[in-house]
Amino acid sequence: MAFSLYIHIPYCQAKCPYCDFNSYAAAFWPEAEYTRALIRELECRGDAAPFRGERLKTIFFGGGTPSLFAPESIGALLHAAERAFGIEREAEITLEANPGTVDRAKLGGFRAAGVNRISFGAQSFNPAILKFLGRIHDARQTRAAAAMAHRAGFERLNLDLIFAVPGQTLADVMHDIESAAALEPDHISSYNLTFEEGTAFFTDLKRGRIKPLANDEQAAMYAAVRTELPRRGYAMYEISNYARPGREARHNLTYWRHQAYLGIGAGAHSFARIGAGNRRWWNERIPARYIANVLESGIAESGAEEIDAHASMSEFVFLNLRLREGFAEADFSGRFAASFDEAFGDRVSRLVESGLLIRERGRVFLSERGLELADSVFAQFV
Ligand code: SF4
Repeated sequence: MAFSLYIHIPYCQAKCPYCDFNSYAAAFWPEAEYTRALIRELECRGDAAPFRGERLKTIFFGGGTPSLFAPESIGALLHAAERAFGIEREAEITLEANPGTVDRAKLGGFRAAGVNRISFGAQSFNPAILKFLGRIHDARQTRAAAAMAHRAGFERLNLDLIFAVPGQTLADVMHDIESAAALEPDHISSYNLTFEEGTAFFTDLKRGRIKPLANDEQAAMYAAVRTELPRRGYAMYEISNYARPGREARHNLTYWRHQAYLGIGAGAHSFARIGAGNRRWWNERIPARYIANVLESGIAESGAEEIDAHASMSEFVFLNLRLREGFAEADFSGRFAASFDEAFGDRVSRLVESGLLIRERGRVFLSERGLELADSVFAQFV
């Protein structure tokens, strides 16, 4: 069965204070060496179970800031992926880019290398908010980058936005949506800012240097996003994701539908069904150690877990419930040796009665209220 490939590029020009990804601020990065290591890992994974002989349906270059790398490096990685597995003709190939790191030649180079979807971390169009978020780009660069991407032939373009930033108003959020939509992307992701442990913002929060927006302000912003983006032609298909018809991010659907993916690069995670069970494994996080391990042995796996039937059922439910369409109960029972009711009946009835979950025509999905309280609904399935 075709699967998805995630390629992690961990370097950034600066570390944003809210970011908890495996990314590192660097003035220089060992691009040639890191690319060589990724290619070696691809060759090694292409030769072994569980992905040997399977083709790629989506590829995602994420980070970090993959757009720091030259198109030649990205092209070499795509060639290696083709050699290792084969890439389906209609594969979605996405590259995450920081608007402050691209120019016309670079975007043209990515397109020529085979990338067919660009995702820009726009975050906001408000200078004060961009500064607060520690971004290296400004709104003018986002507008220029989107125009250059269109001219370079990218029909598929995503813009990431962030809301619920301290100091942001509802009018700011509406202005960001309007500004993003004006650039005619086919996809917009709109994330609620969170304060994750280990980030600079988390420390600032603990020390009282910043104050999150009140819950009702955050909820009002989320409600505005859920109304305004669909009004502009971007249907909500996941808690934080909106797309024009048929332009949903196929790569991310792999995660939410609990399907198989291979992650390569520093700290990348993979997930596959092996025999009757599921397995997740992950790579060494530190880039220099990742490179050294791969160049020595072909892989840099640093941990793994077998996921038992109950945990697999839980994951299937809370990942699929992120999707607006939820999931078909028949898909659940087709995959597991139990019906949805047998597995979670008592909890499901409670969630349906409290109006957070809807069961209709054989499908299960979150209500509007359930979307707002999604984390507490998911907690019921853990
Ligand atoms: S550019 Fe992206 S990956 Fe890099 S630090 Fe900022 S948010 Fe994190």
